[in-house]
Amino acid sequence: MAFRLTLWYAGIFSVSACVAFVFFYFLMTSVFRDQTDRDLSRQAGIFSTIMATDGVAAVKRFATLESQASGEKKIFYRLFYPTGISFSSSNMTYWRDIGVTRVNIEQALQGEGGVYETRTIPNRAEKVRILYSNIGAGVILQLGQSLENVASFVEAFRKIFLVTMGVLALLSAGFGWFLARRAVSGVQAVTRTARNISASALNERVPVNGRGDEIDQLAITFNAMLDRIQQLVESIQEISDNVAHDLKSPLTRIRGAAEIALTTDSSPAEFRQMAASNIEDCDRLLDMINTMLIISKTESGTSQLNKATVDVAQIAENACELFQPMAGDKGVSLECHGKNGVMMKGDVSLLQRMVANLVDNAIKYTPATGRVRISVEATEAQGVVLTVEDSGMGIKETAMPHIFERFFRGDPSRSTSGAGLGLSLARAIAEAHQGRIEVTSEVGRGSVFKVVLPS
Ligand code: ADP
Repeated sequence: MAFRLTLWYAGIFSVSACVAFVFFYFLMTSVFRDQTDRDLSRQAGIFSTIMATDGVAAVKRFATLESQASGEKKIFYRLFYPTGISFSSSNMTYWRDIGVTRVNIEQALQGEGGVYETRTIPNRAEKVRILYSNIGAGVILQLGQSLENVASFVEAFRKIFLVTMGVLALLSAGFGWFLARRAVSGVQAVTRTARNISASALNERVPVNGRGDEIDQLAITFNAMLDRIQQLVESIQEISDNVAHDLKSPLTRIRGAAEIALTTDSSPAEFRQMAASNIEDCDRLLDMINTMLIISKTESGTSQLNKATVDVAQIAENACELFQPMAGDKGVSLECHGKNGVMMKGDVSLLQRMVANLVDNAIKYTPATGRVRISVEATEAQGVVLTVEDSGMGIKETAMPHIFERFFRGDPSRSTSGAGLGLSLARAIAEAHQGRIEVTSEVGRGSVFKVVLPS
């Protein structure tokens, strides 16, 4: 890329310089030609005046003197009758190849102020500019001036052009190379960093030079992408650690029970007890695995929602009834408010799970004599709003940003039941219905979980 950019720079620079040179060349040659034409015209004017005042003999004398004074290789003259016959001329040895045509004479007789032409001379580099002019009394003057000065200008110009173009091409290539290297150095830094990145070394970042240019934008975007990848890798690692941890205890218990069954002589009642506890452990594991599957399917949108018209107030009412015994056992009062008939389009079994998780949490994290209140309302502005409010232990501020993460548990000792998946599932379900969950909480006073769903 740097090489291609350099070629472009050098190419554009050289072509621009060429164009400038060509323009200058044409300008200069046209200035030279105009100057020569003016000289010739002035001379012809003098010839006319002498012709008018002193006659043809004086013209001849003046012409001879003029051509001798300027140099016979520089200027020449000839005088013609309208028939085309020359009756006088300067020394034409040098100009012997230059003749005259009838057309030239006729044009001169008709043309006001004379007729100009440029002729090349065979076997010579220089050109000659010729003026044909009617100087009066039927005499035609052919006046020629060598364009040798133009030829030497062109020669000097050619040399200057070649040397300058060579230097310019070298300079532009060097400058272009420098600029191109500078432009691509940022991209190279990104490439180097990308090459050094691996799952175990995700801390590398591209240096941002602070110029705010496109390369900086690329570096910032690339770094932001690395941040996201790092977060994802870390959360995947954390999730697999948690899964391994949560799988380990029940599996160890199941294995222990099987081992005891094999190695000891237990009574049928003890076997039944072991089988029952194995089933319980297996159910818990299956529940966890199923919940994880539902969360990832719901989050990725791969599971189609089984949408139907559902009454959210009815779902809340049912949850209230279902959890009444659990609340009663704990000494927590569970109330449900809201009239039936709060309708929306949704997946009834997922919405039931979401409400159940929130109510289960509220009872779980509320001590005896506490209160849990479920309410549902339909609002114009927000849609369906389901609130689960408790007077429990509340959530610490440090835990707040994490409670919806998979496997996050506020109580790291894991003394309360649960795998830390309830709220992640609730949020995934709310979002799959284009809704959201908000939470406010105060430690020691209780929490309020508010689900807002479009009706
Ligand atoms: P689990 O209840 O299985 O631990 P959740 O995902 O349902 O997992 O909840 C995550 C964490 O959020 C819980 O461990 C708990 O610390 C906190 N939490 C959830 N609901 C409440 C609540 N109503 N009151 C206090 N803390 C709560």
